[in-house]
Amino acid sequence: MGAGFIGAEVASAARRRGLPTTVLEALPTPLVRSVGPDLGAALSSLHTRNGTVLRCGEAVAAVEGTDRVEGVRLTDGSVIGADLVVVGIGAVPRTDWLAGSGLLVDDGLVCDEFLRAGAPGVHAAGDVARWHNLLFDRSMRVEHWSAAAEQGARAARNAVSPEDLRPYSTVPYFWSDWYGSRIQFAGVATVDGVEIVSGDPAGDHFVALYREGDRLSGVLTLNGQRHVMKYRRLIAERTRFDEAVAFARTSAPERSATATS
Ligand SMILES: Cc1cc2nc3c(=O)[nH]c(=O)nc-3n(C[C@H](O)[C@H](O)[C@H](O)COP(=O)(O)OP(=O)(O)OC[C@H]3O[C@@H](n4cnc5c(N)ncnc54)[C@H](O)[C@@H]3O)c2cc1C
Repeated sequence: MGAGFIGAEVASAARRRGLPTTVLEALPTPLVRSVGPDLGAALSSLHTRNGTVLRCGEAVAAVEGTDRVEGVRLTDGSVIGADLVVVGIGAVPRTDWLAGSGLLVDDGLVCDEFLRAGAPGVHAAGDVARWHNLLFDRSMRVEHWSAAAEQGARAARNAVSPEDLRPYSTVPYFWSDWYGSRIQFAGVATVDGVEIVSGDPAGDHFVALYREGDRLSGVLTLNGQRHVMKYRRLIAERTRFDEAVAFARTSAPERSATATS
């Protein structure tokens, strides 16, 4: 259940063991929030190309079985037989215990750029922290190990050294391995435009650059390990989108220039 990164990694592992696998996704297109609609569809084609059945727009109403799971029932009443069900439908920050504390909770504990949560001596780090990331000038919450570790260290330093406060700014980064391919993403996937600067989204390798206004805001790669960190650096340096595309032209001769929106 769920065609996000958890569901996809589990499906990939199941297929590697030769097991018949179905991924059910409630939304019409997977991964819209994390990589945008076009490239979400491109990545999801890895499922069908590797023998996993992907059914989008199919919400699960119930898990069926007596002593053990026997299937899942969809909202249209149909039942898909299954002897193992993995639920990978996302997480919500656990903040109910903060109700009435006076701290601001809004999809996470709201913090400033120093990870201070609005009351003396209260800082936040990790999945629960919604903090102001100065690099993108917006409030964000990141569910990745690296951010949790870095935020923990920064929040602790700021807590013990209030005379030397330093903001926590980062270009969010994650990777995920599906069917022997490596997916890597850095930045934010708000899309004013996407340009494929290397490879082909229908194939086994591509590099896509995301534009927000006139700035490079994100990079998505499929089997593009040697590319992703250089673009992450360009994002951190607030590089203009056209400069990033020009950079791609000099460093990725195999590019195909495909632009959307
Ligand atoms: C299945 C899965 C796979 C993932 N894979 C990846 C991956 O490949 N790469 C990646 O970067 N990230 C991955 N993540 C995300 C990553 O696990 C989180 O970003 C990271 O664990 C966040 O660390 P954290 O310390 O904020 O929260 P957690 O690791 O969730 O730790 C929070 C702890 O606080 C405890 N707790 C909650 N409320 C209270 C309370 N009131 N009092 C005391 N304790 C409390 C919880 O029980 C928990 O032990 C994955 C997450 C999941 C669920």
